[in-house]
Amino acid sequence: MTTQLADAQFTKKLFDTYDSYKFNEISSRRFKHAELMTHLDSLKKSLGGLITIEQIGGSGENRSINLLTLGTGKTKVFLWSQMHGDEPTATMGLLDILNYVAQNKNSAEVKKILSETTLLIIPMLNPDGAERFQRRSSHGIDINRDALRLQTSEARILKSTRDKYNPEIGFNLHDQDPRYTVGESGNVAVISLLAPAYNVEKTDNAVRTRAKKVASELTLVLNQFANGHIAKYDDAFEPRAFGDNIQKWGTSTVLIESGGWKDDPEKMFIRKLNCVGLLSVFHSIATRAYEKSGTAPYDNLPMNTKNLYDIIVEKVTLKFPDGRASIIADVAINKEEVRDSTGTWWKGRVVDLGDLSVFGAHEKISGEGKTLDATSFELGDMLKVDDVRILLK
Ligand SMILES: [Zn+2]
Repeated sequence: MTTQLADAQFTKKLFDTYDSYKFNEISSRRFKHAELMTHLDSLKKSLGGLITIEQIGGSGENRSINLLTLGTGKTKVFLWSQMHGDEPTATMGLLDILNYVAQNKNSAEVKKILSETTLLIIPMLNPDGAERFQRRSSHGIDINRDALRLQTSEARILKSTRDKYNPEIGFNLHDQDPRYTVGESGNVAVISLLAPAYNVEKTDNAVRTRAKKVASELTLVLNQFANGHIAKYDDAFEPRAFGDNIQKWGTSTVLIESGGWKDDPEKMFIRKLNCVGLLSVFHSIATRAYEKSGTAPYDNLPMNTKNLYDIIVEKVTLKFPDGRASIIADVAINKEEVRDSTGTWWKGRVVDLGDLSVFGAHEKISGEGKTLDATSFELGDMLKVDDVRILLK
């Protein structure tokens, strides 16, 4: 067993030259189905005969759901993104991948990937959710809890596509709250990985073990660029979820959760990690090098842990003009995205006060020697994020 990356050079090249093939037409997360279709159209032209795009059904509101097929190899690799409409990071990474293939058709790595694997890609499985930038479908259903009842057309499309092709390997592409850390490290989890359990006992079989090897290879790739920022997602069995069931139905499945990164609200660095990570692993699947990874790099990942705030003002003196004694406290603030007629912007909400020394933060502001008028906000208050700096005296 090795814990070395099989093709570190290819991975490094993908990372270092990313700006030359990044799909620049998308630069923010709130793109919708119509834009995606326009982009797929232009990528189809640049990919020539290397891609087929087939409408395989419609969403609840009848937006098209499409299957992209690249390659002619015997190892089928299935990817689906944005089952949750407000989780678009991987969809952007997939467009980058298509652009990379278009620009590097004749490279040895692309030829190897396309001759050994068949990539089956459903980008934006939940276009109605994407339209509203919400998690759930237009029927208000969480598609990721509909794998058994199959009441949504989106869920039926996902299951029937898996059943039709019976792919060897699958990637279930999501975004998570950017406030998770890697174990107790205080490091933000930029990406969390999971080889989902297929039963309550969380036992291993050949299918899940292969998923763990793929996840291990991905861990080794991501460690090159974000070492200490990769976590393992909770592996409790969820009988209604797709990842767990697709594992059970025989496709070795890896969940990729795009998390958070400092000063990256649009998740552009995480999009890059999705692109570089997946392309590297496609190559490793094509050469079957990942089979030598073993499962240790994945097994040893610390758990995804929720103990991060956006901002903590540390040890500030809270003053109470009504006569209560001053106290020293840490103040935690989370940013919330607000959309209104003026556009999209961020507000902060004070979410905790007191000794917060066990928590991490994307930004820590020293409050030592400074005071904050405790009547200027209440716990749970919304305030413009920068206000906290203005309020500090
Ligand atoms: Zn999700």
